[in-house]
Amino acid sequence: MSKDKSARIPTPQPVRGTQDMLGDFADRFAYVVETFERVRRLYGFKRVEVPVIEPTAVFARSLGETTDVVSKEMYSFEDRGGEGITLRPEFTAGIARAYVTNGWQQFAPLKVATHGPLFRYERPQKGRYRQFHQLDAEVLGSDSPLADAELLVFADQLLKELGISEGVTLTLNTLGDAASRDAWRAALVEHFEGHRGDLSEDSLARLDKNPLRILDSKDPKDRPIADGAPDIDAFLTSEAQDFFGAVTAGLDAAGVAWERNARLVRGLDYYRHTAFEFVTDRLGAQGTVLGGGRYDGLIENLGGPPTPAVGWAAGIERLAMLLADDIIDNRLDAVIAVEDDSQLALAMRALAVLRSSGFATEIVASGSPRKRFDKAAKIPAHALISVGTRDGAPHINIRGGSDRAKQAEAVVRAL
Ligand code: ATP
Ligand code: MG
Repeated sequence: MSKDKSARIPTPQPVRGTQDMLGDFADRFAYVVETFERVRRLYGFKRVEVPVIEPTAVFARSLGETTDVVSKEMYSFEDRGGEGITLRPEFTAGIARAYVTNGWQQFAPLKVATHGPLFRYERPQKGRYRQFHQLDAEVLGSDSPLADAELLVFADQLLKELGISEGVTLTLNTLGDAASRDAWRAALVEHFEGHRGDLSEDSLARLDKNPLRILDSKDPKDRPIADGAPDIDAFLTSEAQDFFGAVTAGLDAAGVAWERNARLVRGLDYYRHTAFEFVTDRLGAQGTVLGGGRYDGLIENLGGPPTPAVGWAAGIERLAMLLADDIIDNRLDAVIAVEDDSQLALAMRALAVLRSSGFATEIVASGSPRKRFDKAAKIPAHALISVGTRDGAPHINIRGGSDRAKQAEAVVRAL
């Protein structure tokens, strides 16, 4: 090693579980967000922005102290003023907090959508990061099953427009109303108590605090016990049955395929009625691409008035990984090769006019002039425009047969 190399300052490494994106994956990420932004407008969801940081109580109170997210996964710290702050691990609690503190009740029912980064202290692996990103859609202040159905049809159309609905299944369950859920919970506790000796350690802890979570345990020890547990169906009140019936009728009417999964529960404590996941077998263990449900209890947990609400979130990275290989078209409309520097001003004018007319355009104007044409030809574009001199006069040559190339040519010829 040379002297000055060993003197170099070591480069700090990125935080474990974070990702830098450039090129193909960044393009896929942007494609997911752009598609989401387009589709959410079709469904009349307003854009909402909420802070990345919230007082820790926003999540601790609304998510429930016993959930994995709150007990193990939160990035919490004290700020310089001694306030307990948490980097948001999900959107719903922050949006619910904003709904209460801003008096957004006046807009109820309020349909909102957002996307951005979230933080969870998890074991990083494929499709699982410590900083990841979600798309999120919520309907606050509606107790209608039509809101649940609308959100699901929105999610289904989004996945179709992303071209990834093939092999993705909507699985649906009901967690009933408070009365159904309490009765079911008691029956589950009785069932699991009978198998205490065979449950995993994690599930034993859940038995006291959050017995529903044993149902979706991935531990092979728990699986037969969870599979043998009673379904909620026998405990559903007629109101809860009607609610679920109205959601599924809405899906059927819109032509959205769904499957009942009586084992599906959401990780968070505040869910009521509808719970759902869009799942795929194309991502290995990280098979859930979009999940959500009705959280009628959450806003009250945050000290707000009783407010029915329903929503979903989808991992952007997981959606981006599912996109087809050829989905991103990075082809420019035009690329300009400046073959003679005396014509640089003409080329720059063509570049400016093309761009301001809405044509994605790049210019090759550096390096040896003789090599610029070949360099430009290697850049994927509809039209290849060379600007040079012929017989002492400025000369523009344009290649490319597509409609887009012809439109670009018309703009340049009109200069
Ligand atoms: P999982 O069972 O995979 O841990 P979850 O139940 O914790 O998911 P939610 O809190 O419902 O997930 O979040 C919704 C979606 O966000 C997930 O379906 C997934 O696509 C994505 N997601 C959740 N955690 C991560 C993570 N650590 N990295 C990347 N994406 C994630
Ligand atoms: Mg998780």
